[in-house]
Amino acid sequence: MVEAPAHIKSIKPYIPGKPLEELEREFGIVNAIKLASNENPLGPSLKVLEAIKGRLEHIHRYPEGSGHSLINALASKHGVRQQQIILGNGSNEVIELLVRTFLRPGEEVIMATPSFIVYDSITKAAGGKSVEIPLKDWRHDLNAMAHAVTEKTKLIFIANPNNPTGTINTSKEMDKLLEVLPKDIIVAVDEAYREYVTDPSYPDTLDYVKAGHSIVILRTFSKIYGLAGLRIGYGITNAAIIEQMNKIRQPFNTNMLAQYAALAALEDTKHVKLAQEFNEAGKEYFYDELRQIGIDFVPTEANFVYLPLRNAHVLYEKLLKYGVVVRPVGTEGLRITIGLPEENRRFVESFKKIIHS
Ligand code: PMP
Repeated sequence: MVEAPAHIKSIKPYIPGKPLEELEREFGIVNAIKLASNENPLGPSLKVLEAIKGRLEHIHRYPEGSGHSLINALASKHGVRQQQIILGNGSNEVIELLVRTFLRPGEEVIMATPSFIVYDSITKAAGGKSVEIPLKDWRHDLNAMAHAVTEKTKLIFIANPNNPTGTINTSKEMDKLLEVLPKDIIVAVDEAYREYVTDPSYPDTLDYVKAGHSIVILRTFSKIYGLAGLRIGYGITNAAIIEQMNKIRQPFNTNMLAQYAALAALEDTKHVKLAQEFNEAGKEYFYDELRQIGIDFVPTEANFVYLPLRNAHVLYEKLLKYGVVVRPVGTEGLRITIGLPEENRRFVESFKKIIHS
């Protein structure tokens, strides 16, 4: 039998949230709701749907290889040059391009735990070593992460807000980290959920890029823009980093429909605002209900709420029977996406029944 190398075998597989079709097929559960993958419950903007329909007859053509039109729009939105942006098949691909471009086998990547599991799997796939620093009060401990730097450190990942806890690190904390870090270390700040943040101490990382730091900002259209199924995200950093990453990027890594959808999504600021309003209302509803039930939760700056629970996996299985799919995080927590009002109610009611039974 063909054997994969040890560094590949050591990778923990990514387990995606159960698709509703699978629930129906495997468990006969119909009318289930999915609060497991932090998608926008409102769906995409109608302008996005129109844009995609307008392109359907052109899909026999290759997309723009570099995604020039979308990059152009993003560059003017963020006040950076086009050479400072790279598109990816989801921000996941940008993470992968970054690691594969810069990490040499044996080098170290510092990341938090628990955080987004993909940082670890991509690091290991590239022959690197993950250095996992536990969260402190559910937040990245940037101090401890800075202390973990060695001569072998190449990259640091910071999910801000963090997945699964929804917590943020402030601009003061980021300033301090960048002050003490050696300049040849790349800081990747994953801002997949930035549009949901309301805390004014949240950093404007574009300022760090503009000031010349080796910082790579990761953004996505999968969350508030509602395009998770199309797979499109991007990175913003200095042109020298992008130039190297582009060398290993597949020529047509983002598809035509995704590029046009993202362009239309950027323009529909009303849809983004509506999603923010729904999220805020859902968050308040969850907080009120969880306080009444007497369950501990971590206040969130994202579109999901984290419940630190010892029996998370058992609760996850029980919620499945009620047709409510959430996300267990190891054995120690449940992450629940903030959904539509009726979906949030359905979670709360099922959760209450389980707790009281
Ligand atoms: N970063 C974080 C922190 C995430 O939670 C996710 C989605 N689960 C991603 C990146 C990946 O997003 P994309 O769909 O853009 O690949």
